[in-house]
Amino acid sequence: MRGNLYIVSAPSGSGKTTLLQHLLRSFKDLKFSVSFTTRKARAGEQSGADYFFTDRPTFLSMVDRGDFLEWAEFNGHLYGTARSFVETHLDSGRDVILDIDVQGARQVKSKIKEAVAIFVLPPSFAELERRLKARMLEPDDVIRRRLEIAKSEILFYRDYDYIIVNDVLENSILLLESIVRSGRAAPWRQQSRIEEIIASFGGIA
Ligand code: ADP
Ligand code: 5GP
Repeated sequence: MRGNLYIVSAPSGSGKTTLLQHLLRSFKDLKFSVSFTTRKARAGEQSGADYFFTDRPTFLSMVDRGDFLEWAEFNGHLYGTARSFVETHLDSGRDVILDIDVQGARQVKSKIKEAVAIFVLPPSFAELERRLKARMLEPDDVIRRRLEIAKSEILFYRDYDYIIVNDVLENSILLLESIVRSGRAAPWRQQSRIEEIIASFGGIA
């Protein structure tokens, strides 16, 4: 029985990292796919935990080898999802979660139809700007660039199965947890248990 694959995308600053941290704390068995990227590590980021930081030639040789389930260029840097990590965990019945952009989400959905795609929206443009500035991680020109990118990214919301408007954080956390929990209620996820229950009734007539 394969696990479920979840894709989470959002314009930068919407609160996706915050939401994913809460989700991973609640669901200890959920596997977060650490992406490869050619961008430099930000202060506090660790290779192997936030990303696998690599250089462009190494990344492109991985592309040639078919190592990526999907990959894309975002804001001048390359980002990719390791195919083997995702497939191994899905095959062993684990749920896997990807934090990827709208281009990557489209590629994954075209390859794995049953993947569940979730888009996190900020409540407004002004609030997105406020959050990016309050986070104080980047200079003003980078924030301006992120806001420009956000304007085109949000139009992709139609590609997604669920939209979480991240207004009140607690509500968004509950909603994200509900989506993952309901994925586990699918009959195919509970086949052996269902068979045991049916057997306890004396089998199927
Ligand atoms: P992303 O990963 O989408 O770039 P972050 O999780 O880093 O975003 O969140 C951006 C900033 O907004 C952080 O300072 C975070 O604490 C804050 N934040 C996240 N969710 C909310 C929310 N629902 N309400 C107010 N602030 C939030
Ligand atoms: P950041 O540089 O802010 O960490 O991420 C920039 C964007 O790249 C975010 O939208 C993030 O979701 C996306 N991203 C991170 N990893 C991957 C990946 O493996 N593939 C793709 N397509 N996008 C990714």
